[in-house]
Amino acid sequence: MENALENKTSSSNFIKNIVVEDLKSGRVQEVITRFPPEPNGYLHIGHAKSICLNFELADEFKGKTNLRFDDTNPVKEDTEYVESIKEDVKWLGFEWDELRFASDYFEEMYNRAVLLIKKGKAYVCDLTAEQMRETRGTLTEPGKESPYRNRSVEENLDLFARMRAGEFKDGERVLRAKIDMASPNITMRDPVLYRISHSHHHRTGDAWCIYPMYDYAHPISDAIEGITHSICTLEFEDHRPLYDWTIAECEMSSTPRQYEFARLNLTNTVMSKRYLKQLVDEGIVDGWDDPRMPTISGLRRKGYTPEALRSFCREIGVAKANSVVDERNLEHFIREDLKLKAPRTMAVLRPLKVVITNYPEGQVEMLEAENNSENEEMGTRQIPFSREIYIEQDDFMENPPSKYFRLFPGNEVRLKHAYFITCQEAIKNENGEVVELRCTYDPKTKSGTGFNERKVKGTIHWVEASQAIPADFRLYEPLILDESKEEGLSFLDRINPNSLQIERGFVEPNMKDAAGGDKFQFFRHGYFNVDPKDSTPEKLAFNRIVSLKSSFDPSKA
Ligand code: ATP
Ligand code: MG
Repeated sequence: MENALENKTSSSNFIKNIVVEDLKSGRVQEVITRFPPEPNGYLHIGHAKSICLNFELADEFKGKTNLRFDDTNPVKEDTEYVESIKEDVKWLGFEWDELRFASDYFEEMYNRAVLLIKKGKAYVCDLTAEQMRETRGTLTEPGKESPYRNRSVEENLDLFARMRAGEFKDGERVLRAKIDMASPNITMRDPVLYRISHSHHHRTGDAWCIYPMYDYAHPISDAIEGITHSICTLEFEDHRPLYDWTIAECEMSSTPRQYEFARLNLTNTVMSKRYLKQLVDEGIVDGWDDPRMPTISGLRRKGYTPEALRSFCREIGVAKANSVVDERNLEHFIREDLKLKAPRTMAVLRPLKVVITNYPEGQVEMLEAENNSENEEMGTRQIPFSREIYIEQDDFMENPPSKYFRLFPGNEVRLKHAYFITCQEAIKNENGEVVELRCTYDPKTKSGTGFNERKVKGTIHWVEASQAIPADFRLYEPLILDESKEEGLSFLDRINPNSLQIERGFVEPNMKDAAGGDKFQFFRHGYFNVDPKDSTPEKLAFNRIVSLKSSFDPSKA
């Protein structure tokens, strides 16, 4: 049944099709999903994919989604991670039905394990981890049965109770399922259900010194919550028989089913919490929310919006085979989202002073500038203009090539929202570097007056000097480069030395009230976000979210 359905349906929504069939056939009356993060790090864009999938699927069928922390590994888990995960899920725009923790079910999991022992379906094994590995067999050879496999039910019950009571050291004994050491599926070769770990748990404290394994805890948690569709990534496909075995043998009253989809991978990124934690711990980035990180908090700080991330997750679809998505896809969706939302203003990243010699000294006039040429509703603003302004260093060349239409000695350009200016002279310092330009303006060319006696080919942006606000502009490149991946270099050897570049320049005076998280399009430079941590009214700090254009076309990728 399931296979027939999978063959029939398109890969982009195969899970939705399964849900439709399940509702039609009456296997389920409603749709209950869950997002089950392990609180051992901050969420990344791959998790966003899973969050959108689970929440949107339930939403579409008026169902429910739980947020459940899969907190069965006390050593790596922390409440800081729990809080950040809750914040990220909310920020993405989703509301969970119930907030649960796998650790809420430890007592029930224990009781179900006792049931397994009583049924002869689980036993306490004294083999070391090493010995277990050696006797597990391979893909082509069956495993060997443990010498402890045929312990009596009484002995198993006694030993398991004593494991719980703390009588044994870490690793001394485990509880294993008694399934089939000759199974072609290695996962089914008497998998470990419980291990001993005398460690403090972020929620249960020291109440437990035995902890359930993921493969045992997950199906039981799903069944307790009445989850109907337990969606996970492809690497758990081989674990599905164990998932079903656990539900059946533990005699759970509801029967969730597991479905697998392909993990999201992005180019020029690592996407495992373990690796991301290494980047944080080794100080390669400035925390989990460094704007170069593929974490949800990093993308948020960089300036991504929940809308852009959700569109991205929706558009890339739900695949049945692993692949790598070009990270520029993500950029496409933030450009689309901000195009009509972000005010368009002027910022000079690498300033060069311009003195307009024929403009009256001491005079400042206010000019009107539209806030978004594609969205009239955003209105206009007043910007000052005077004898001294800043332009981009790049917008002047002393000896330009033939197709250069910006400033050079003798050339005239349009200043966006202002006048035409002509470069008369470049002033240099003792090293021969251009440090200032002397220009003249033509009062008749004022923007908005309909002047059309002559045309200029270049338009450049600028900021009035006396009122300009100093700002840092943080420009990013990918943190990790895929080039040389083939040579077997680890991700730490592929760190891009140019991943962060800071420019010190100026923004318009009306930016003085810009608050953390405000987003702008700076003419010609791209979309920027006011950094929520580092920006101060004295020194604004802007993170470049994305440049304005890219030759990349996601529809052809
Ligand atoms: P990581 O290796 O990054 O720690 P994980 O799978 O161990 O990932 P969990 O916290 O266990 O992280 O994952 C919570 C949920 O998110 C799981 O259902 C998992 O399958 C899903 N998930 C994790 N990474 C991705 C990804 N790259 N793409 C899609 N879903 C993912
Ligand atoms: Mg994990």
